Amino acid sequence: MTARIIDGKAIAAEIRAEVAAGVKALIGRGGPVPGLATVLVGDNPASATYLRAKRTAAAEVGIVTFDHQLAGGSTQREVEAFVAELGEDRRVHGILVQLPMPTGLDEQSVLARIRIEKDVDGFHPMNLGRLAKKGSDPLFVPCTPAGCLILLKRSGARLEGSRAVVLGRSNIVGMPVALLLIKHDATVTVCHSLTPSVREICHEADVLIAAVGQPELVRGDWIKPGATVIDVGINQVEDPSTKRGFRIVGDVAFQEAIDVAGAITPVPGGVGPMTVAGLLQNTLRAAEIAHDRSTA
Ligand code: NAD
Repeated sequence: MTARIIDGKAIAAEIRAEVAAGVKALIGRGGPVPGLATVLVGDNPASATYLRAKRTAAAEVGIVTFDHQLAGGSTQREVEAFVAELGEDRRVHGILVQLPMPTGLDEQSVLARIRIEKDVDGFHPMNLGRLAKKGSDPLFVPCTPAGCLILLKRSGARLEGSRAVVLGRSNIVGMPVALLLIKHDATVTVCHSLTPSVREICHEADVLIAAVGQPELVRGDWIKPGATVIDVGINQVEDPSTKRGFRIVGDVAFQEAIDVAGAITPVPGGVGPMTVAGLLQNTLRAAEIAHDRSTA
């Protein structure tokens, strides 16, 4: 068997086109130009690169960005006050605080200061709580987990009644993706670094989501034949044969997995592009919510 490749780049391009059309439609009915405020505390180069990519993608679909960089030595109170101020800015519909923040700052406390109707990353405890609660929906779903779900749905995976295994229980990927899968009627097992027999558990999965940050941890013989595999991992491994001296691999040994899985996302070109697309979708949604409330 050779797995079908789930083309995240192509699906993300479709979503970006949908968002661009949505932005035009919103402005066409008298709504605002969606505005996204980005906040970088300190000067982490990787964070700065991610933010640049997000801003470029936003500009391409007609979302205006307001970029803010706070000094690495900013206090908890200063960062929280700044985020709270953005909450009052009517031009800003979405607020993105780039993580990780410098050591010493309490990220969760900062995220909790974001107004939930501007929480386009979906990390506010209220939005996460609504994701966990039966019968309630969050205003925004975190972008990477939302991207995983879209890839599963658009690739035709059946979630209802399926057995899903999520590797990783982080706040930004593993845990919210597990909650989303439960909302879609899958039976979900979440594995983490202390889980015994991870290989055997993975082997039972119709849907396997790997979000551990361990290069090629998941081998071909961990995968149930025909399973759908979503590889969230982005890992840099040394490769002297490349110009940069390294290459990017996922959490799944792709070349082994394609012989067993039914469908699989590549790295790069799978989940990565979906994360940015999800942010754009959420920002448009935030602007639509603001407009609907102002005209209600
Ligand atoms: P994290 O370090 O916060 O969490 C990793 C999780 O994996 C933890 O819950 C840990 O217990 C678990 N884990 C570690 N080793 C394990 C093992 N051997 N078996 C089972 N579980 C194990 O990482 P994160 O922020 O969730 O990110 C995970 C990966 O996803 C990273 O490679 C990261 O770069 C990538 N990522 C990609 C995107 C994207 O847009 N594609 C977005 C966010 C994160």
